[in-house]
Amino acid sequence: MAELTFIGAAGIVTGSKHLLTVGGKHILVDCGMFQGVASVTALNGLPLPVPADDIDAVIITHGHLDHVGYLPKLIHDGFSGPIFCTPPTVDVMEIVLDDSAHLQQELQERGFQHQRPYAPPMYYDQRDVDRTMKHVQPVAYHEPFDVVGALKATYFDAGHIIGSAFAGLEFEGKRVVFSGDLGRYDRPLLFDPEPMGAATDLICESTYANQVHPPEPTEALHQTLLAGIARGGAIVIPAFAVERSQDILLAIATLQAQDPQIANLPVHLDSPMAEKVDDVFERFPNAHRSVANDSQSTPFGIRDFTLHVTTEESKALNDVKGPHVIVSASGMASGGRILHHLHNNLGDAKATVIFPGYQSLGTLGYILTHSAKRVTLYNDTIPVAAAIVHLSGFSAHADRNELHRWLQTCTTTPHLYAVHGEAPSAAALAAMARGSFGWKADVAYRGTTVTL
Ligand SMILES: [Zn+2]
Repeated sequence: MAELTFIGAAGIVTGSKHLLTVGGKHILVDCGMFQGVASVTALNGLPLPVPADDIDAVIITHGHLDHVGYLPKLIHDGFSGPIFCTPPTVDVMEIVLDDSAHLQQELQERGFQHQRPYAPPMYYDQRDVDRTMKHVQPVAYHEPFDVVGALKATYFDAGHIIGSAFAGLEFEGKRVVFSGDLGRYDRPLLFDPEPMGAATDLICESTYANQVHPPEPTEALHQTLLAGIARGGAIVIPAFAVERSQDILLAIATLQAQDPQIANLPVHLDSPMAEKVDDVFERFPNAHRSVANDSQSTPFGIRDFTLHVTTEESKALNDVKGPHVIVSASGMASGGRILHHLHNNLGDAKATVIFPGYQSLGTLGYILTHSAKRVTLYNDTIPVAAAIVHLSGFSAHADRNELHRWLQTCTTTPHLYAVHGEAPSAAALAAMARGSFGWKADVAYRGTTVTL
């Protein structure tokens, strides 16, 4: 008999953490941080159902902060077992955790979070991150590995970000599948999610289970870039450093090759972290589709490309005149250099801001994409004069149709638990599993335990 406790990403989309207890052993599947509004991030301070030193192993599906961000805290609190993940995820995880420790340190020093003057708690520092990386055990897709006791697991490509996996856990005659975050089909950069195969139980993400993504994000971006050039100012694109920045740069490069009107539009990447992720793509050429690139010196062959690494190089963007693109992080404008560019451009009627991803409730990105007339940034109240555009088609998450397509690849009739979604989308996934497939299905609630 096995028990599964939903610790995070239950009823919300962050803090992915599922505790599997089999034969007295405790295994965490994902170990993410809660992100977003203060009432959600406060959940990071709650104790786990079992002490960290009682957890035997951690299985990581991919390197996003909401799936790995709590690992250094787990190590800090006494966890000493193996942390399994795919080889590209090792690299992505290190970039993400380094940045997280750095950001926590910075917020502490500045006493600043979401425009509020207080210092948020610091969960770990760089030393904890360095110790965490010593516990990592990389495992390739399709190679079954021993987790603990008789429990074995295998990773398969989930198509969400580079190195992302769904995991099949085998024990006591069961095969429990954890989807992690499921990606898209027919995307330019990543492979399709692999077929699921057999499952007795399926813990499945549901971020967009009640929505269908617009079909052509690249063409929508094209039109937005043309409109942005006509306005005459900066075109600011808040994008997550892990994957979204690469998707955006590839889309711009593709459009530039097709349309002389934007062929020479200068593109600035102001994200040292995104540049490091670009390197992961180069190190693992077999982990993504190959992309034609005439020029090896710029990402995907963008003609007029500038990378900004130092703070001085970032500040130099304030003086750039005329239409130009600035891609910077974070994607929900909840921190990072993008705040500086928004501070500089939101009040400018010539500027355009393009949000190409999911904006969670309470973030500056959410506020701006919901018609805010003015925002407060660095203690300044700024009237929003820039054009604000939300392009959801660039999502790295499967939509309703793509989730349905992936569920169809299951060869058995599992019991589905819907995780990683706000309440309406989690309910939509459970309803789909029952209605379209005749499976048992439940929405997972934080803190509840089910018997598998
Ligand atoms: Zn993710």
